[in-house]
Amino acid sequence: MSDQDLIVIDGREGEGGGQVLRTSVALAVALGRPVRIEHIRANRKSPGLKRQHLTAVRAALEVAGGDDAVGHSGVALGSAAVELWPAAGGRVHAGSYRFAVGSAGSTTLVLQTVLAPLLLADGPSDLLLEGGTHNPLAPSFDFVARSFAPQVARMGGRLELTLERHGFAPAGGGRMRVRIEPAAAPVAFELLQRGEARRPRVEIALAGVPGGVAAREWAALQRKTHWPDTCCNVREVTDSAGPGNVVSVELESDHVTAVFTAFGAKGVRSERIGGLVARDVQRYLASDAPVCEHLADQLMLPMALLAGGRYRTTRLTSHARTNAQVIERFLPGAVTVGDDGIVTVRGRRMP
Ligand code: ATP
Repeated sequence: MSDQDLIVIDGREGEGGGQVLRTSVALAVALGRPVRIEHIRANRKSPGLKRQHLTAVRAALEVAGGDDAVGHSGVALGSAAVELWPAAGGRVHAGSYRFAVGSAGSTTLVLQTVLAPLLLADGPSDLLLEGGTHNPLAPSFDFVARSFAPQVARMGGRLELTLERHGFAPAGGGRMRVRIEPAAAPVAFELLQRGEARRPRVEIALAGVPGGVAAREWAALQRKTHWPDTCCNVREVTDSAGPGNVVSVELESDHVTAVFTAFGAKGVRSERIGGLVARDVQRYLASDAPVCEHLADQLMLPMALLAGGRYRTTRLTSHARTNAQVIERFLPGAVTVGDDGIVTVRGRRMP
């Protein structure tokens, strides 16, 4: 392959965060296209590859066949540029893998990087992921298991997650198992309506944090939502490596489950945590679109590699637009974002 085939991605574009890297690497491996990502996370306070990103790139290298199959440079902590030269055509290897972030960095974002390639593999894969399972500014385990995974099933693949141990920042030490079954017969995806809503579910997880915290968080959430006490379950987490507190709200409807989270943090009042998650819930309920803003940026990549389709979102963030731009660099014309919140994706494997 010549240098002309190399796709060069400028990490400063759009959001300029870790997503640009993860999406580029996932596509390079899935499609067997060489890529160079420069100015990695240039818009962030501490740019370059952090542990989570480095683990994600290494994980992608592994599923693409490892050092023998993929030429690479810059795969190191702090690196500002990475180059990958996967085998032409993109052979992705199903198998059993263990990816350990080695910090409290998000395991779900590592999963995000290898999932789309592994959905194209020729057999099922089993992953053991270690690090953070409940991180702010990343999908929580519950988000992936209950909101994202059912939608992957509607694309024809299968994603099953088991949480073995919570991992909160800064201690990390969390562990989850993930089974990925590829989409042998991809299905065009459509998610335009929520359908009938079920009863909301709230889970407040406490690890080494006094029970009064959960009571105050729930009271703040309840003040805004007027949900009955029976919606709320407090879960004492006894086996995590360090303290943590997460409020997780699940809004299940016929066709989609939305999951919203807020994390307790030192120096932040519990009422504020409850209030933050209530604000996200209220925004979602004020719209009738099924796909929340986070799910909106995460559905594009698997759809573009599978059978495409369309969905309607409550809000298109700059994060989602950036992700669409990166996908476009590999698959021109793949993502169309309408002003009406409808995202249309042309899939590589449309029936
Ligand atoms: P950095 O911004 O430090 O480079 P990063 O690598 O963690 O960070 P981002 O580019 O910010 O990554 O991407 C974060 C990902 O996490 C996106 O896929 C986004 O949808 C997802 N995400 C963030 N917050 C939530 C949330 N509350 N629920 C579900 N998903 C979330």
